[in-house]
Amino acid sequence: MASSPKRTKHPSGPDGSATTPHVRVAVVGSGFGGLGAGVRLRRAGITDFVILERADSVGGTWRDNSYPGCACDVPSHLYSFSFAPNPEWPRSFSFQPDIRAYLERVTDTFGLRPHLRFNAEVTELRWEEEQFRWRITTSVGTWTADAVVSATGPLADPQIPELPGLAEFPGRVFHSSRWDHDYDLEGKRIAVVGTGASAAQIIPAIQPLVKKLTVFQRTPGWVLPRADREISAVEKWLHSRIPPTGALRRASLFALRELQVDAFVRRPGTLRLVQQLAQRNIERGITDPELRAKLTPDYRIGCKRILLSNTYYPALAAPNAEVVAAGLAEVRGSTLVATDGTESEVDAVVFGTGFHVTDMPIAEQVFGLSGRSLAEEWKGGMEALRGSTVHGFPNLFFVIGPNTGLGNNSMILMIESQLNYIIDALKTLEAVGATALQPTVRAQRHWNLELQHRMERTVWSTGGCRSWYLDAGGKNTVLWPGSTTSFRRATRRVDLAEYELLKRTAPVAQEVAA
Ligand SMILES: Cc1cc2nc3c(=O)[nH]c(=O)nc-3n(C[C@H](O)[C@H](O)[C@H](O)COP(=O)(O)OP(=O)(O)OC[C@H]3O[C@@H](n4cnc5c(N)ncnc54)[C@H](O)[C@@H]3O)c2cc1C
Repeated sequence: MASSPKRTKHPSGPDGSATTPHVRVAVVGSGFGGLGAGVRLRRAGITDFVILERADSVGGTWRDNSYPGCACDVPSHLYSFSFAPNPEWPRSFSFQPDIRAYLERVTDTFGLRPHLRFNAEVTELRWEEEQFRWRITTSVGTWTADAVVSATGPLADPQIPELPGLAEFPGRVFHSSRWDHDYDLEGKRIAVVGTGASAAQIIPAIQPLVKKLTVFQRTPGWVLPRADREISAVEKWLHSRIPPTGALRRASLFALRELQVDAFVRRPGTLRLVQQLAQRNIERGITDPELRAKLTPDYRIGCKRILLSNTYYPALAAPNAEVVAAGLAEVRGSTLVATDGTESEVDAVVFGTGFHVTDMPIAEQVFGLSGRSLAEEWKGGMEALRGSTVHGFPNLFFVIGPNTGLGNNSMILMIESQLNYIIDALKTLEAVGATALQPTVRAQRHWNLELQHRMERTVWSTGGCRSWYLDAGGKNTVLWPGSTTSFRRATRRVDLAEYELLKRTAPVAQEVAA
């Protein structure tokens, strides 16, 4: 990659300074993706980078989601970085505070603090064609960078439906990922809207506290028992004293999940057995036939994210809980009205209604070659080459880009594969003496045609549900239709045949002093 230009004067440098700092790489976001990028950059000998984070601490998902009961649903020993094993995980599925603390520790252990800039919300990323670099405008000033790694998270921007009357609701309203800890739920009438993965953790955690719990359910989820338990002192001792035992544990968790992939992506019919287990789980957990009917999905298991819980059904069957098998339609004063006309008076509404996923919010802020916006580029659906790069947006790399999500496996595996790819791209640029790269139209098209072809057979396409994996046009732009191993193979190296190289020939222009 070309050497960094000299620091240049600019009126809007960070923290009011009169210079615009230039870095080789700007990383946006400090969740697993952004922190992982920082670690990998340093390991590759690249120290000239900044991590821009809109919040005031690291952690992403695990900072923002502090709702009661929040935990991972992939075992902790797999849901962690391969390069930062944690022998101290307290449970097989650890709670949010432990995962957040882990990410804080990763930040310190790998020397990332000096690179972090908090409260720096990126409001614009603009490719400067003559300078061959990105101009990054944030809430605390401007940076320029040779390359940008966008790790803004697939589930970072909450989605609350626009409902008539909601603005006039007299009680509290909040989203699962923005929990209002000042609000005491004890003895209150609480509505939970949505029955996805977050709601399935919130409902059992708050049901014993509240006076009345009303759950608005548009579509039920399939629920399987959660094999959660405390990790014993002996196991922790073994994992810390004899690290290969931790590695073995991770490898077996990995292998087990990898073996299940085929059923989801190529042979959804074989999921019938798992569905029977889930059916039995309903029968065991719910005795009331009417409630049982409400909670029984009419689509194939796996089509939507499978919920793991031993406490969800007992909570819904409790005398103070009510399931309204319909979405929330409107709010009239403190009365919530469902699409089936059911009315419920409540003191507070908790939205477990998910995130902006298929309409990645950062896309609105990215402007590439000829000033074209990424949101415009993606108006027919998000697309990238190998989930990482997009034609027209040179040196912009995504962590968890389009079609890199997983149904029921550890996202960290995908994040680490994408980081391999990004580091290889940066090294390749340096090796060939180019300034920037962008995928060819042909390579990007071919990758997506093949990917969508494979998607046709998956349970997410054939299972008979409408999930958040699908965009407004019904296209799955979220999930990877394969094993994590195949994605790792696909992202091991940058294939230059798939890329156009750009080279800066003129010297970098100096910015005029303010
Ligand atoms: C409740 C919950 C439970 C989950 N459980 C699991 C699980 O068990 N297993 C699993 O594999 N996955 C799980 N996930 C998915 C999870 O999001 C990913 O595994 C992973 O944490 C994503 O990391 P990330 O760094 O890509 O994104 P995030 O963790 O979302 O981090 C993105 C960061 O970017 C910042 N940011 C966004 N926009 C800007 C901007 N414009 N400027 C500056 N900063 C910005 C955000 O503030 C945030 O800190 C879960 C998600 C949720 C919400």
